[in-house]
Amino acid sequence: MIDFQRILTSINEAASKEKDRGKVADYIPELAKVDVNNFGIHLIDSKQQSYSAGSSNKPFSIQSISKVLSLSMALGLIGDEVWKRVDVEPSGDPFNHLSLLELENGIPRNPLINPGAIVIADILVSQLENPKEEFLSFVQNIANDHTIVFDLDVAKSEKRTGFRNFAAANLLKSYGNLNNDVDVVLDFYFHQCSLSMCCAQLTSTFFMFMNHGKCIRNNTFLTIPQVKRINALMLTCGFYDEAGEFAFEVGLPGKSGVGGGIVALLPNKFCVATWSPGLNPKGNSKLGMLALEKLTTETELSIF
Ligand code: GLU
Repeated sequence: MIDFQRILTSINEAASKEKDRGKVADYIPELAKVDVNNFGIHLIDSKQQSYSAGSSNKPFSIQSISKVLSLSMALGLIGDEVWKRVDVEPSGDPFNHLSLLELENGIPRNPLINPGAIVIADILVSQLENPKEEFLSFVQNIANDHTIVFDLDVAKSEKRTGFRNFAAANLLKSYGNLNNDVDVVLDFYFHQCSLSMCCAQLTSTFFMFMNHGKCIRNNTFLTIPQVKRINALMLTCGFYDEAGEFAFEVGLPGKSGVGGGIVALLPNKFCVATWSPGLNPKGNSKLGMLALEKLTTETELSIF
């Protein structure tokens, strides 16, 4: 029997001693206010036993991690039609890459890069009557937690400075791959990215990706083939131009965000989330990557 608690405690101890913690994202001004010294980790196993260390209950901006959730909702609504508008190939581009160049004939390379996630946002805006409210309750229902909210200051802050996302949305529009107004789609997208969660809430939400599409209350949100595809996308596209390095060091499907969160999972075994807001030069949480490498090395549990 693996002693997850002992391993998480030692990961937290090592993190607290780390001097070089990376750099907090500042291109969204509101994120620059977060203290780089935060570190939290939470793990939930297949029997729903929880283990945690550090600031695992402190909420942070999940940013790009939300792209997995919007994709899940879009797949539930229109199924494989999604793949007519977005491809499934890794981009190998940095997180702050001028994403316009990732487009080929208006089809973004995958749904986890910004242009791809903007197309998914457009699908949700078309399909839902009250897109922001319905997306939020979709996430709350998966997590079985109605305290999850958008951080409106973060959404506003990104709206003021999200020039590249406006450029990407306009280019998508020019290719005919955006059916709604740019402003409406990006308003939804910025809110989606502003979802605020702690590590514990992230593991409850992502539990379904390790549990054949069934959430922690055992309700089915995704089919088994859909979970297979989403986990494959997380493995190949979940870490900007460091997806190869994450597979090499950690060996789990996962997704990071510029708020410093990472969520990762081993199907049938566990789901884990880390938060440390300092990013490495590739835009992934510096200590989060180190923590997860330690976790899969010490437990000898990875998909490989
Ligand atoms: N909202 C952020 C953006 O569009 C998400 C970036 C990320 O976490 O990768 O730039």
